[in-house]
This record gives sequence, structure tokens and C-alpha cells, in this order.
Amino acid sequence: MNCDLLITNGTVATADAIYPADVAISAGKIAAILPPQSSINSLATHDATGCYVIPGAIDAHVHLNMPTGVGYTADDWCTGTSAAALGGVTSLVDFVETEPGESLLEALEKRLGEARQSIIDFGLHMTIQPDEHPINGIPRRVSDKRITQIKEAYAAGCATFKMYMAYPGFQVQDIDLFRALRAIAEVNGLACIHAENGDVIEVLRQSNISDPARALNHARTRPTINEHEAVTRAVMCAEVSGARTLIFHIGCEHAARVVADAKLRGLANVYGETCPQYLVLTEESLARPDGHRWVCAPPLRPQADQDALWHMLASRALDIVSTDHCPFTIEQKDKGHNDFRLAPGGVPGIETRLGLMYEYGVRRGRLSLNDWVRTCCTRPAEIHGMSAKGRIAVGYDADIVVFDPALRKKLTPRELHSAIDWSAYEGITCNGWPRDVIARGEFVTRNQRLCATPARGRFIRRSY
Ligand SMILES: [Zn+2]
Repeated sequence: MNCDLLITNGTVATADAIYPADVAISAGKIAAILPPQSSINSLATHDATGCYVIPGAIDAHVHLNMPTGVGYTADDWCTGTSAAALGGVTSLVDFVETEPGESLLEALEKRLGEARQSIIDFGLHMTIQPDEHPINGIPRRVSDKRITQIKEAYAAGCATFKMYMAYPGFQVQDIDLFRALRAIAEVNGLACIHAENGDVIEVLRQSNISDPARALNHARTRPTINEHEAVTRAVMCAEVSGARTLIFHIGCEHAARVVADAKLRGLANVYGETCPQYLVLTEESLARPDGHRWVCAPPLRPQADQDALWHMLASRALDIVSTDHCPFTIEQKDKGHNDFRLAPGGVPGIETRLGLMYEYGVRRGRLSLNDWVRTCCTRPAEIHGMSAKGRIAVGYDADIVVFDPALRKKLTPRELHSAIDWSAYEGITCNGWPRDVIARGEFVTRNQRLCATPARGRFIRRSY
């Protein structure tokens, strides 16, 4: 047998097994998995002694180059995907948003143009949002036309549809959430839902807040029961419509339990995502003098919620970990220095997920090595309809991370590659980090240095 590249002497770790093996790559695909030191002709070999060889990580929730009230998110498709690759990510899923009057396919075409700079493969979630801007803070309706276009978007490779139950400009009323879910069920797509009760949040945010410089008030305007209620409503709509549904960024125990209960009731198509910020940080970050930089939604929660989320992840009540990477510079974040409501929402994390989940999950005994691979690499591919990704198995894309448990990485802005001048995880050192990253058989990083050709990423047309 001949191959292009042979990864030797590593320990292959998948969602369900750990074993020493050599991995042969040909024409961008995994060609064979062989006992160590098998004799095979390879154009090149790569030594992975002392390292785990795992499937490339998939981050199915990022916001690159997204327009916001304080300008675009700080990472464009080049800096964002470079940082991703250096953190072991070989595929990501970002979003298409639609302007008033624009069709879903027109918006997709425009977004694909921007995404051409991506150095790794990428998919796009189609956002189903109201056709017009809100009036007096009241969300408008989603037109019949837009709902009908769900079918075309699916056929164009956007198999997943994002809906917000909060933020006036994006929020869909229950009637439209349910209509869209029925249309998504009809094409067998996946709904991804930001579940918070937006109406209640808006009233709380507009009421007199005694000290708006105190960022902890952000969490007080979005209490856990608010998230709990919205997740319950979303799961009810999923159940009645029959739509496969993923609840995005679950941040508290009660919300996670709703997804766990749905699974116990036999709803096999309801999934839950959480993010490193909810697993590593707590609302203590919001209590800092610069706490407004940690404003994100749902907000960071108390320690008890964090502990519960780890259990939910290990017990498979929650399915995947994504980052919701939404990077802003200090200048952008500091618009909220005197009033947390003016801080753009979101924390960065595109580069740090694998390392943080290894440090706080595997090394601290909260997740097995297999759980780590399952939640960061394999389940994201399955849930988001990427049939060639997420596994070390013959015929799959050769997206592979050589993860060195002996590397130490300080999570400072100097050591990281996002186009921002702060880190939400400053002060943390990860033991274990991606050393080399291979995407479709090509090295995109080697010895923690980027070596990818620009714009090499391809659009992943996803389906179920
Ligand atoms: Zn998001």
C-alpha cells in the first residue's frame, strides 16, 4: 500500500476507543489505520510520539466578521480561522444573517463571498429572523416568503437554522418560531435556538437599574428561570413540530435538565450545546471592576450551575461544546464600562476550547478522553450534518490533530491569535495543546505555527 502521509507512533483517541496506531492519509482522506510500525510506502511520515491523534475539532458556533452596534466582531475570516486552526479546529460553522428585503439565498451568496478567506472548511447556519427592524422594541413578524425559502436554503447546503427568542432585532415571536420549526421539520433540517425570554429581559433592562456600572446586573436582568422557561418553550415547540432541535449555549442547570428530561421522554432529536465560558468561568468574572468585558448571553452563572453542566456533559444529557466565539477588542467592550447594557455581548474562545476542555475536563477527571473527543469533534459533526468529518475512520476527511499533553500554554493575548487585545481566560495555563493540525491531508499548523495556504477552506454543504 502507498500513501501520501503516515502519522506514526501516536495514540489514536476517538469518541469510543484509545489505541496505539499509525494513520495513513491519501488524497486528503484517511486511507488506513494500521498497527504501529506497519510497513507501508509513504511519501512522508510524521512522528506523533507521546501525543494523542484525534479527529480535528469542530466548532459549530462562531461569529466572525459580524456587524454589531459597535462595529464588526474583531476577527475576520482570516484571523478567526487562523486562531481556530492553531487551537485544533479543522471545521467551523458560522452564520448567515438577512437584511430586510433580502432573500435567504441572496444573503447566503453574500456571506459565501466574505468567507472565501477561510483557511479551514466551514459551514453556515441560516438565521431565520424577522423581515423588518423592530418598532418600539417590539419584534416584527417573519413573512410567509421567508418561511418558504427554508427549503431552498437547505438545498443550498445550509441544513441548520438559527432562531433567537431574545434581542428585538432578531427575536422571533412564538408563532413564527413554531411556523419555522414546522418548515424545518419538513425538510429534515436542524433548528438551533438561542433560548431566553427576550420580552422579559427587555423590560428588566429598561427599568431603573440602580448601578449600571455594576456588570453583575447583567446577570440579574437574565435570571436562570428566564433561560429555563425559554428552553422549556423551545423544547415544547420542537416536540410538537417534530423538528430536530439543538438548544444553543446552555448556561444553567435547570435549562440543561429540560434537555435531559426530553431525552428521557424519548425525544431523540433534542440536543444541547454548552460552551467553555459556562464550564470554566462563573459570574465572579462579571463582579470584577472590568466585568463588563465578560457580558455574554445567557450570562455567566454561579459555581453550582457550572458543576451541574459538567455532570450533564459527562452523562450525555448535553451533547456538544462549541465556543459562541464573539470577539471584541477592549475598546469595543469598554463602551460598556459605565453601563453594562452598552457592552457588546459575547466572549472570545475560538482557539482555546480543546485546550480548556482537556485541562478542566480530562485532567481534572470530569470528562474521559473519549468524552472530550465526542463533545468537541465527533458529535458536532453528526449533529450538524457533516458526513465526512469528525472521525478517525477510513474514508473520512483527513482532519487530524496531533495533541501533545506535555505542551503548556498560557492563555494571554500574546500567546493567542485572535485579533483582540485581551483574553477572557487570562491567568489560566493549559497543560496539553494541539501541536500539529492537518486538514484534508494538508498541514495547516506545525509545531504550533501556522503554515496554511490562505483561502484554502471550502464550504461544507451539509445535509441529513
Ligand atoms: Zn452565538
